Amino acid sequence: MAHPRPVGIETGIEGTGTEVYGGSGSSGMGGGAAGPGKIGNRIACLGDESTHNYRGKKGYIFTTGTDIYGNDTCIAEGLPVAIEGALHNCPVPGHGIQKINAITIKSYYQGKLILTEGAVVDAPCGAVIKPQNRKIYVE
Ligand SMILES: [Zn+2]
Repeated sequence: MAHPRPVGIETGIEGTGTEVYGGSGSSGMGGGAAGPGKIGNRIACLGDESTHNYRGKKGYIFTTGTDIYGNDTCIAEGLPVAIEGALHNCPVPGHGIQKINAITIKSYYQGKLILTEGAVVDAPCGAVIKPQNRKIYVE
């Protein structure tokens, strides 16, 4: 493809400084033709929403779980990527702010699993994270 490299995430996954890009063929593990053959799930970032909403307000990722004051924050399309330990703010009464649990198995940042679509918020909330489609997938 002739188009320039997409704006992707520059990440210190496992401390190697690896750059991970969205779109097809990330990690060199296939991809290619458009279609459902994605690898992993949509990456989750600060502010991404969840399945819970109440009176027009939606649950969202409230903190990323990363050291945002450090200089090595992992960025995807301009937003900090969320990792295990990130907090979700739910508008449903009684749910409040709870930790989000990763469903990834291979993708780490700052030693913690990266959050994605399908990540589940702790009880009593239980919302499921639904990130925007940045065409960046991790597994
Ligand atoms: Zn909730």
